[in-house]
Amino acid sequence: MANILIIGGGFAGLVAAEKLAASVDRSYQITLVAPNRNFTFLPALVELALGECEPVDISFDLAQKLKNIGVRFVHGELIRISKGLKKAVVTGADFNGEISYDFLLIAMGRRLATEKVGGFFEHSHHILGVNAAARFGKALESFQEGTIVIGMCPSARLPVPVCETAFALARRFGPKLEDGTVKIKAIFPESLSSAFGGADLHKQLESAFAKFKISVLYDVPVTEITPTELRSAQKHAIGYDLLMLVPPFRGQAILNDLGITDSEDFVLVDDRMKIQGLSNAYAAGDIVAFSGPKFAHMAVRQAEVAAANIALAIAGDEPNRKYYHEIAAVIDAGGPESIYLHYGIWDDYLHRLKQGTFWTWAKEMHDTLWRARHR
Ligand SMILES: Cc1cc2nc3c(=O)[nH]c(=O)nc-3n(C[C@H](O)[C@H](O)[C@H](O)COP(=O)(O)OP(=O)(O)OC[C@H]3O[C@@H](n4cnc5c(N)ncnc54)[C@H](O)[C@@H]3O)c2cc1C
Repeated sequence: MANILIIGGGFAGLVAAEKLAASVDRSYQITLVAPNRNFTFLPALVELALGECEPVDISFDLAQKLKNIGVRFVHGELIRISKGLKKAVVTGADFNGEISYDFLLIAMGRRLATEKVGGFFEHSHHILGVNAAARFGKALESFQEGTIVIGMCPSARLPVPVCETAFALARRFGPKLEDGTVKIKAIFPESLSSAFGGADLHKQLESAFAKFKISVLYDVPVTEITPTELRSAQKHAIGYDLLMLVPPFRGQAILNDLGITDSEDFVLVDDRMKIQGLSNAYAAGDIVAFSGPKFAHMAVRQAEVAAANIALAIAGDEPNRKYYHEIAAVIDAGGPESIYLHYGIWDDYLHRLKQGTFWTWAKEMHDTLWRARHR
């Protein structure tokens, strides 16, 4: 029996598994390897941190879901890929050994490189996991007054939750922002447009920040965090009482010896999501070495392209489905300041930039439907 192996059970891995299960005939065994038995809808971690939902509301049983669609789930972690042999070495609770593949999809997401910023681990919160988001939520519960700093470290490729967290905290602490007992600062390592892959949305975002009395600081490449302040390569020293930063992103170093990664360990693919230099192998999601921010929307579309091309190759056809690198994201400010951005990163083309309460509803509706459809 021929095998398709998917590494990773996040947005890209799950969507690719669904697409392949629906399009490839049953003589192919599809296997998905992931260290997590549950799928977590990561964009909802902002709400989790704010106490607006529980972990159970934003996750579902991935193993059961895969079983339902005829995909074998292996609870484990990729350790190594044997390039010439088309084998993956996997270790985990119920499997230790090699899995052969005919087609491979790498969808392992990003690594949080907290070690790149001194003091991050000791002093900064982040919200890129259920436990981390819950810890930030606990710290918020006991926060009464002072300065909250929310931001991105250099090469943190995720601006949306920074903006959404800042807006949500501004709504929560409204009267205290008015009388000055609470201050909120949002910091970015470069310009707002760099954070959004080149899209020019600073007018809309800055007016939203101003409306909420959030101070925005650009060109703050954080290098070090002490118990009381964060310092930057540009000699900033910014005091804080509560700190939440998105850490630097990297790919997965265990793939380096294959010669398929860039200098930050992200996997190099072409516009068909095919990995150069690894036969019958594709990658999708945050792990790929594309420019700009990294969003679930991109992971899903990349997974669809990779799955379609694997199905075409299996059918003996040319794997010619192409991916177009674009942002289609809502920055939810909870009301009329919410922004919808649709922007082509590769061709620098602004398809749509809209603002209004509608986009808060649209995001809520989209997220609810997505979870219902995929669980
Ligand atoms: C707080 C927050 C808010 C966000 N908001 C938005 C938003 O509003 N809009 C938007 O579009 N995107 C948003 N995102 C980004 C989005 O969640 C990511 O882009 C998306 O999760 C990427 O999908 P992925 O499948 O590439 O990676 P992930 O979803 O991270 O999945 C990676 C998978 O690989 C597995 N894995 C890792 N290492 C191994 C290994 N060695 N072996 C096997 N498996 C492995 C992981 O366990 C996981 O299952 C947000 C993210 C966060 C954290």
